[in-house]
This record gives sequence, structure tokens and C-alpha cells, in this order.
Amino acid sequence: MGGKLQKLLIVVPCYNEEEVFPQTVKVIGTLLDDLIAAKKVSSKSRICFVNDGSKDRTWELIKKAARKNKRIAGISLSRNFGHQKAIIAGMYDSDADLYVTIDADLQDDCSAIREMLEKAGEGCEIVYGVRDSRDTDTWFKKYSALAFYKLMRLLGVNIVYNHADFRMMTRRAVDTLKQFPERNLFLRAMMPLVGFKSDKVYYDRKARPA
Ligand code: UDP
Ligand code: MG
Repeated sequence: MGGKLQKLLIVVPCYNEEEVFPQTVKVIGTLLDDLIAAKKVSSKSRICFVNDGSKDRTWELIKKAARKNKRIAGISLSRNFGHQKAIIAGMYDSDADLYVTIDADLQDDCSAIREMLEKAGEGCEIVYGVRDSRDTDTWFKKYSALAFYKLMRLLGVNIVYNHADFRMMTRRAVDTLKQFPERNLFLRAMMPLVGFKSDKVYYDRKARPA
């Protein structure tokens, strides 16, 4: 991209994730450190864990991680609002040039963020992470997911197949999203409406480690 390095914010919604959390911090934290060391993103880049009203020790673990690592921040919602609202709370709370949202369970390969950054460097405003396969999903999940995408298409919703909520967005894309008056956003369906140049990166979806 040239010039000033972009500030990246990685938003991670967390609901009862105490089991996988230490591993998540390690994997995503190491990736961010590497990206900063390689001057791919600004040293002001951060990870924001959003505690979505967890009933386990997730919030304790987030606070502990934030005390240990200045690149880690946390916000805690007053109750469980659901995945989509947790992502939005994290994105709208902090200022950045580039936003990535990724689940806490490490099912999405976070190293795909490197490729997303390259696409952003080429001028993409939204980059969708797309699962290469659903091999680790159960038969039921696989076919219900397929039916879900087909139904959405039938309803006229332009939704990217096999894309969950692992994506990169520029500040411009997020600012445009903020202008939608709708408050119950289903982000997968909303992002294509934002418009702008977009692309996809493919990754292998892993089994939930915990
Ligand atoms: N999550 C959340 N609030 C909820 C449910 C889930 O913030 O009410 C988070 C969860 O911690 C994970 C992500 O959203 O980081 C996706 O959840 P999950 O893995 O259960 O969904 P799936 O992979 O089955 O779509
Ligand atoms: Mg999951």
C-alpha cells in the first residue's frame, strides 16, 4: 500500500470460550506480533475480545490477557446479545484503518489474514474468508448450511457461499455499514449491500479444538 502503515483491529466475539481462549490468544496474538514485526501493519494494531455475556471465566481470562499484553483489549457486554451484536460492538467501539472479525474457536485459519491484507493493499474494501471445505462439519450441518444459503439466494439476499463472519473491512466499509439504520444486522447479508470492491480468500476450516 505504501506510505503509512495501517492500523489493524482484530475483533473476536467470545461466548463461554474459557476452554479455547488461552490458545486463541496465543495464535492470534502471535500472528499480530508477526505482522507488526514484518511491518505489514502499524504497531498500534490491536486485538479486541468482546465478552458476550459469558457465564464461564471468559471475561476473567480476557482481562488477564489484556493486563499482560498491551496489544490486547477487551470489552464486556452487559448480557448475551448474540454473535452479530458482539462483532458490531467491537467494531464500532474502536478506531482503525482495517477491521478483521474472526470467531474465538480457531475454526477459521487466522493466517488467511495475511492474504486479506494483500487484497486490501490491492484496493479491496471487503475481503470475505471462505471455507474451502466443510469436511469437519457433521452431515447435518453441511446440508442445513447449503439449504440456508439456497434459501437466502431465493429471497434475493446476496450472500457469499461458505463465508461465515471471518472477513476484513476497511474503515470506509465499516463507516458505510454504520449508516444503515437497521439495528439487527445480519452482517453476512449486509456487507454485499455496502458495495465497494471486494474479493475472497479461501482457507481450510478446522475442527473446534475445544
Ligand atoms: N458467540 C457470541 N455470542 C453468542 C454465541 C456465539 O459472541 O451468543 C461467539 C462465539 O464465542 C464464537 C463465535 O461467536 O467466537 C461463533 O460461535 P460458534 O462457534 O458457536 O458458532 P458456529 O461456528 O457454530 O457458527
Ligand atoms: Mg464455530
